[in-house]
Amino acid sequence: MSSQPQPFTPSSTLFVQRRSHLVQVLRERGIADEAVLAAIGVVPREAFVPDVLAANAYDDTALPIDELQTISQPFTVATMTSAVGVRSGSKILEIGTGSGYQAAVLAALGAIVYTIERHALLSHQARERFRRLGLQNIHTRVSDGSIGWAAQAPFDGILVTAGAPDVPEALARQLSIGGRLIVPVGDRVGQTLYSVTRTGDETWSAQDLGPFKFVPLIGAEGWQDGVR
Ligand code: SAH
Repeated sequence: MSSQPQPFTPSSTLFVQRRSHLVQVLRERGIADEAVLAAIGVVPREAFVPDVLAANAYDDTALPIDELQTISQPFTVATMTSAVGVRSGSKILEIGTGSGYQAAVLAALGAIVYTIERHALLSHQARERFRRLGLQNIHTRVSDGSIGWAAQAPFDGILVTAGAPDVPEALARQLSIGGRLIVPVGDRVGQTLYSVTRTGDETWSAQDLGPFKFVPLIGAEGWQDGVR
C-alpha cells in the first residue's frame, strides 16, 4: 500500500521514457512489488547522479558520486525497498544517504525517512536535492549510522546501503517488534543481503536475499580500518 506519490519537478520526455523503460527492466528482473515499481517510476534518478552521467541515469547500474561512493543499482534499491515493506507513514531509517536516491524512493512510498551519512558533503548535496524536489518527509543527519539513531527509535524498517562485517547489533535493537532490517553482510568485496525481522524483545529471524556488492560501512559497528 502506498500514499499518493509526492510531487516531483517534471523531467524531459526523454528521461520519462527512459524511466518507464527502467521500470520494465526491473519487472523483467523479478521485481514484483507494484508500489515499489510505481515509486521508481516517479523519482527522477537523473537528479541524483553527477550531471555528466545524466545520460546513464536509467541504466540498471551503480554510478559514481562524490567522496568515492556510489548511487546504488536500481535493482538493488528495488530489492531492498520491497524487502523492508513500506506502508504509508512507516518510519524508516536508512544508513548511507549517498546521493539521496534511495531515501527519495522511500519518501515516494509515503514513508517518514530518517537517513544518516558520514560524509557531510554528500548529506548536504542530498538535502539540496530533496528541497528542490519538494520532498518534506526526509530527515538527514551527518554521523556514524552503524550505531543507528537512538533518539528516533524504534523504526518499522532499517536499510543499510553499505556492506557490514556483521549485523550491527545497535540497529537490530532499534527495530520495532515486527520491523525489518535489510543489511548486506560479508567482506569488503562482496556481501549477502539479509532481511532480519525482530520477532520479540530478544528474538530475531533472518532471511537470505542473495549476493550483492556495496561500498563498505565504515564505523563503530562497521569496518574500522582504512577510511574510504
Ligand atoms: N543509499 C545511497 C547509496 C550510497 S553508497 C543512494 O541511494 O545513493 C553508501 C553510503 O554509505 C556512502 O555514501 C557512504 O559514505 C555511506 N556510509 C558508509 N559508512 C557509513 C556510516 N557508518 N554511517 C553513515 N553512512 C555511511
